[in-house]
Amino acid sequence: MEHSYNLDAAIRKIPDFPEKGILFYDITGILTNPEAFRYCIDTLTDLYRDSGIDAVACIEARGFLFAAPVAERLGLPIVLVRKKGKLPGKTMEKTFTLEYGTDTVQVHEADVHTGTNYLVIDDLIATGGTVKAAVELVEEAGAKVHEICCIIGLPFLPYKELLEGYTVRTLIDYENE
Ligand code: AMP
Repeated sequence: MEHSYNLDAAIRKIPDFPEKGILFYDITGILTNPEAFRYCIDTLTDLYRDSGIDAVACIEARGFLFAAPVAERLGLPIVLVRKKGKLPGKTMEKTFTLEYGTDTVQVHEADVHTGTNYLVIDDLIATGGTVKAAVELVEEAGAKVHEICCIIGLPFLPYKELLEGYTVRTLIDYENE
């Protein structure tokens, strides 16, 4: 199915948030616009319908919002990549560098199965550090990463170098302004 939509109109751009010098791309405008949200979910669902993925891994918190409807439509398990301390079971973890600061993410070790093929979803990819941590967690648990898909990409940041060898798809890209 072909989709087209002016997603840019639904994305608010907030200068100097959360720190001076960061232009923040706010996806809440997609969530408050059912047509924009449906466009994102339809597009991702169609992209991965016949891709051979077995599960979707998604990153707290905004990644969850896009991944859950896609996984449900495709009939696939959802694995949560959460900030440290949120998951109650036995976890594996990774610490990584953000565009601003550092962070640690975890997955439930028992949720990622050896030999399965994952799609990794987040709302936005900037330096790629967050997605890379999620990819490493999935791989260390013995699974494979089929592709990475984010709604927004910032290709002026070095995520392509950091994730060399992986396919990263985005629905909309922004250049440095
Ligand atoms: P990174 O690890 O640098 O790729 O950062 C990606 C994560 O940080 C995503 O989960 C985004 O939600 C958030 N993020 C980083 N930079 C921005 C930005 N300029 N606007 C909105 N969210 C951002």
